[in-house]
Amino acid sequence: MSFKFSTRAAASVAAITAAFVTTASLPGVATAQQRFITIGTGGVTGVYYPAGGAICRLVNRDRAKHNLRCSVESTGGSVANVNLLKSGELEFGVAQSDVQYFATKGEGPMKKDGAFSDIRAVFALHPEPFTVVARKEAKISSFADFKGKRFNVGNPGSGTRSSMDELLAAMGWKASDFSLASELRPDEHGSALCDGKIDGFFYAVGHPSANIQDPTTICGAQLVSLTGPAVDKLVKERPYYAVATVPGGMYPNNAQPITTFGVQATVVSSAKVPADVVYAVTRSVFENLDEFKKLHPALANLNPQDMVKNGLSAPLHEGAARYYKEKGWIK
Ligand code: GLU
Repeated sequence: MSFKFSTRAAASVAAITAAFVTTASLPGVATAQQRFITIGTGGVTGVYYPAGGAICRLVNRDRAKHNLRCSVESTGGSVANVNLLKSGELEFGVAQSDVQYFATKGEGPMKKDGAFSDIRAVFALHPEPFTVVARKEAKISSFADFKGKRFNVGNPGSGTRSSMDELLAAMGWKASDFSLASELRPDEHGSALCDGKIDGFFYAVGHPSANIQDPTTICGAQLVSLTGPAVDKLVKERPYYAVATVPGGMYPNNAQPITTFGVQATVVSSAKVPADVVYAVTRSVFENLDEFKKLHPALANLNPQDMVKNGLSAPLHEGAARYYKEKGWIK
């Protein structure tokens, strides 16, 4: 799959955001009925940010119908997005299916604050295989080879970090099993790897993504399979995990497919966001699904059957459910 496509999608997202800001600041454009909505995403080189931009692009084009003005925000990732939804600072967020599950049940990173009873599922997006990437010179052939090495476990607030913590616990590893357990954000880990500051990183992300394209191109970084008894046990026991592969040749210098496991990216909202708002956003995406799928290559395989159910453990938002019922996709 061509990476140029994803760069173009990201560039057009930036252009749209710029166009949006300009229009919004024109005198006389703002009216009382206008409502601003923000989608929390992740790092700008990941998939959440351009996917959020693609949603906003379709929503903003339909704004004569609903008066919504949509913008995206780059954030620390899934856990941060759910927390910002909870505090009312965001109307929508992208979240890993495991994080959606934890927020619904009050487990994992949400154990301390308890369940977020108002979390609502809107739709599922792309799969996110857990992607382990090693510095070429580090001579890593399996994840266990990172013992005693410098490894980026992800920034607090990311879904990546939450999943990493669950995997390390299942393996019986602690942060001290690495010589350095760094907490860089995804927009920083690729250059840290190529600069020789870390030996590897873990990232829950859709493919292809610019984030993985960069270090595989620039310094021949290697994707590493993530398999073994701890992974088998997690996949068997946890409802939000599934085995996944990243096809060979998706990235330069990585001709072999890798086997791993992962989650599903989902869009979530809050019961406090009005049903008409969620209905309008859902409608703009599904009425333009063919176009949406072309806005980023990681979205290319989406289909409505999966999007209305995969990885959705929270109750469906009333506004999304209304649209799916009209379509006959749910009862
Ligand atoms: N799954 C990642 C997280 O929640 C974000 C991936 C992305 O930005 O595409 O931390």
